[in-house]
Amino acid sequence: MLILVTNDDGIQSPGLHVLADALRGLGRVVVVAPDRERSAISHALTLHSPLRAAEQGADRWAVDGTPTDCVNLGIHGLLREKPDLVVSGINQGANLGDDLTYSGTVAAAMEATLMGVPAMAVSLAADRFSGEDFLWGGRWAARLAAMVGKHGLPADTFLNVNVPAGQPLGMKLTRQGKRRYADAVVRNTDPRGRTYYWIGAGQLLFHDLEGTDVHAVDRGWISVTPLHLDLTNYAAFERLRHWDDEVLHAEPDEMKGRVE
Ligand code: MN
Repeated sequence: MLILVTNDDGIQSPGLHVLADALRGLGRVVVVAPDRERSAISHALTLHSPLRAAEQGADRWAVDGTPTDCVNLGIHGLLREKPDLVVSGINQGANLGDDLTYSGTVAAAMEATLMGVPAMAVSLAADRFSGEDFLWGGRWAARLAAMVGKHGLPADTFLNVNVPAGQPLGMKLTRQGKRRYADAVVRNTDPRGRTYYWIGAGQLLFHDLEGTDVHAVDRGWISVTPLHLDLTNYAAFERLRHWDDEVLHAEPDEMKGRVE
């Protein structure tokens, strides 16, 4: 297998090294990762400045861009062939529930999916990141990568994998959980007397729903959620169906007589 490995914590991150090492048993691993941390950058693509890729050794590139840039540039610019798999991680921190919309780790797997390459994002759902926890994550990432190599993935589908701290009990197939928003914004004064704000200071809370990623990880299981990029809410069709007729005749009062 030819495997492209990236992350959003930056090329120096210990999680990336463990992941790349673990996957080397399956084939050739090429690391293309951001040259610094780009966590919570989501699916950002650099369009208005050039990108540089610094070769840091054999099959190892540091890019001054986002995780999405790394996958895009890796596939189209640095590799001479399409990889069999893209693996992103191991992220330092969970990517669960609604939070994965912010995630650069998950977005890298999204980008690979858009390019028709099977992909998975791997995150360590822990508050502290011990070498041993990363090793468990790497071992399970390699097992799952081998399964993807053997069976492939359903069309337009990638895997969001979250690994608990400690030795996992096994793996559970899960659905995306729900965040409980208790986000606090810190308001403070800087040394020059100006007000500043800092987002994300609140406690991270999730609904403890059976069958979700959060539920599995909290109980010591590896969570594997199959995701796709179609954000359409099909259940909403029924409620919105009459809009297409009604909107034709709906005209705000102030607009009447002005539309020719
Ligand atoms: Mn990160």
